[in-house]
Amino acid sequence: MSEEYEAIIIGGGPAGLTAGLYLMRGGIKALLLEKVLPGGMPLNTGRVENYPGFPEGISGRELMERFAAHAKVFGLPIREFAQVVSVSREGTRFAVTVNDATILTRGVIVASGTEPLKMGIPGEDALVGRGISYCATCDGMFFKGLDVAVIGGGDSAIEEALSLANIVRRVHVVHRRDTLRAQKILKERAFRNPRMDFLWNRRPVEIVGKDQVERLVIEDTKTGQREDLPVSGVFVYVGNRADTGFLGDLVQRDPAGFIITDEGLATATPGLYAAGDIRKKTLRQVSTAVGDGAAAAVGLERYILATQQ
Ligand code: NAP
Repeated sequence: MSEEYEAIIIGGGPAGLTAGLYLMRGGIKALLLEKVLPGGMPLNTGRVENYPGFPEGISGRELMERFAAHAKVFGLPIREFAQVVSVSREGTRFAVTVNDATILTRGVIVASGTEPLKMGIPGEDALVGRGISYCATCDGMFFKGLDVAVIGGGDSAIEEALSLANIVRRVHVVHRRDTLRAQKILKERAFRNPRMDFLWNRRPVEIVGKDQVERLVIEDTKTGQREDLPVSGVFVYVGNRADTGFLGDLVQRDPAGFIITDEGLATATPGLYAAGDIRKKTLRQVSTAVGDGAAAAVGLERYILATQQ
């Protein structure tokens, strides 16, 4: 016999954990499925400074441990290492296939977030874990006293470059334009940091190294001229993608693959909601993910009550 819940939440980041807390408080029998361990994207962030209520800042890990603990206070069951393979409509219910089991549910909140984009250049795949990283918080310590490159000009690149600058000897920020996309406060800190420099209008074209990264080849986007940047590490922050293939045609997506919702975070399929970074939205932060989780949970709770047989 299949397991059955009133609500399944897919993803244990800030949006999913908030949705779980709200559903449990609303008396909905919910289960959260997390493909690895709860925490989501903030686990890769050294210090979160813009989540209200923590004037001194808080480590991403500690903040997410608090989120998970808070959801558990209301009894939210969290199933770890539960990778959802597909979601489909089965009459008035959804069938959620996870690992090799199927769970039935009245409604679903998809909060499975995004994953880092790769640069797609020669040497990248071969040297992942051997000098190439997508997480400075996880791997920065391996580069103590060495020179590294950070690729990208967004909030992630600059925030992580600043944290690397506390550990490594020199951080070269390689950006394809001559202005950063990152928030002003981060930019100002980065420009003041004596251990950071900026290689403007440069794009990475190859990473070279035998067993470990030895150098990055970068190209001037205006002249096409190539040069070698000797570094031991390359930290990649060129954006993120949403993996929504497991939802088939149950949702509509924007051209970049993010899920389109209405104001109440409902998708094109009644009973299916999306929350957090996976959703088409303008601002991706812990604070906006929390708002999404709450709104999606309340939307789903109302849907369940309205369609009760
Ligand atoms: P992002 O904002 O999409 O920035 C990606 C950066 O990579 C951009 O500077 C982009 O250049 C560059 N880029 C893209 N493709 C490239 C390629 N093939 N080669 C070289 N460079 C490439 O991604 P993100 O920084 O990960 O941020 C994602 C979201 O999370 C954003 O909404 C951000 O505000 C949010 N976030 C917020 C915080 C915070 O509030 N503290 C921290 C982290 C992330 P262009 O600028 O030329 O497009």
